[in-house]
Amino acid sequence: MGNKREHYFDYNATTPVDERVLEVMNGFFHDRFHNPSSFYQTARQARSAVEEARSKLARALNASPEEVFFTSGGTESDNLAIQGVVRRFLKDDCHIITSRIEHPAVKNTFEFLEREGYAVTYLPVNPGGRVKPGDLSRAIRKNTRLVSVMTANNETGVIQPVTELIRICHRHGILFHTDAVQALGKIPVDVKNLDADLASFSSHKIYGPKGVGILYRKKGIKLVPMIHGGGHEKGLRNGTENVPGIVGFGEAARQVVTETKEYRERIRKMRDRIQRALLEKIPQVQINGDLDHRLFNTLNLSIRFIEGESIIALLEQHRIALSSGSACSSKSLEPSHTLLAMGLSHEDAHGSLRISLGKNNTDADADRLIEVLPGIVQGLRERSPLWEG
Ligand code: PLP
Repeated sequence: MGNKREHYFDYNATTPVDERVLEVMNGFFHDRFHNPSSFYQTARQARSAVEEARSKLARALNASPEEVFFTSGGTESDNLAIQGVVRRFLKDDCHIITSRIEHPAVKNTFEFLEREGYAVTYLPVNPGGRVKPGDLSRAIRKNTRLVSVMTANNETGVIQPVTELIRICHRHGILFHTDAVQALGKIPVDVKNLDADLASFSSHKIYGPKGVGILYRKKGIKLVPMIHGGGHEKGLRNGTENVPGIVGFGEAARQVVTETKEYRERIRKMRDRIQRALLEKIPQVQINGDLDHRLFNTLNLSIRFIEGESIIALLEQHRIALSSGSACSSKSLEPSHTLLAMGLSHEDAHGSLRISLGKNNTDADADRLIEVLPGIVQGLRERSPLWEG
């Protein structure tokens, strides 16, 4: 990692590019810089590199290469999936469903479409942060066209019952999209077995470069493109391909599906050790999210009577990096919509921290966090008018 002394616990926000991924990408910036759409020999090599990356991604997801479309990241894939379906229908004949805990890339797209006049239902979640399949069944209307529910939540790590949700949708002939950005590399994602129609993925969450993602589109599903141009990606996503990024993503996906098993149990144990120690050393702490359905690397907790932001600022002085709420929305001081949907009070949502681990974390990182955080909390509480401890 760039700064060797940083204790980084924000892998759900982004991951460092794996050195082997970087090596594979390097050749495509200067010597092999060619446009994959050109016709000469060197350009054909760039095309082969893109197609090889597509095959690696397809293999990682158990998809066919023809079902994999490169985009600029998870956000664009979510937009393309949702808007690409919805634009096929007239506003007054199109009802769409999502959940209350989606990433802003899905949430804000649904809210935008709602303002445009589409009918939208937002499914609630239980206190553990999971959508209840019965709620989906009840929300379905005659003109429901699309349901989008994430595979795993970026803030809590809670894994959603997507298999059941997909079954319900398909019984009613409704398309299902899942934002699987946080799931890839953490739980098996087999799109064929899952029978998802559309699924979004992002490279920079799996030790690949930023600015590249894919949309999986099951064969036969029709989408209206959002970006028009020269016919790239079969006309679904136009624009010259980000060859180094795509090559890096392919390699990162190949690695993550074959190598996660090498560090999953080590990281799970480290996460659980941090959880136990913080519960023991800090009074008035609660863990957020269903513990039986949680990604191995994620821990979300609320520390009562103080603000997550204040803790983060103080942790930074010890070179410890982690998030309060989700990184993407941490510029706003609004409490996390995910935690509010789970029934947390504004105060508890404000006092939330997300600790997300990754393959480069060491026991020394965990020791440092366990050593430093309780003292910071105590110091802040002593200055808090709400704390009577
Ligand atoms: N969806 C989820 C669940 C995410 O966690 C993220 C990133 O934070 C995104 C979508 C957006 O992906 P990208 O940063 O590649 O646009």
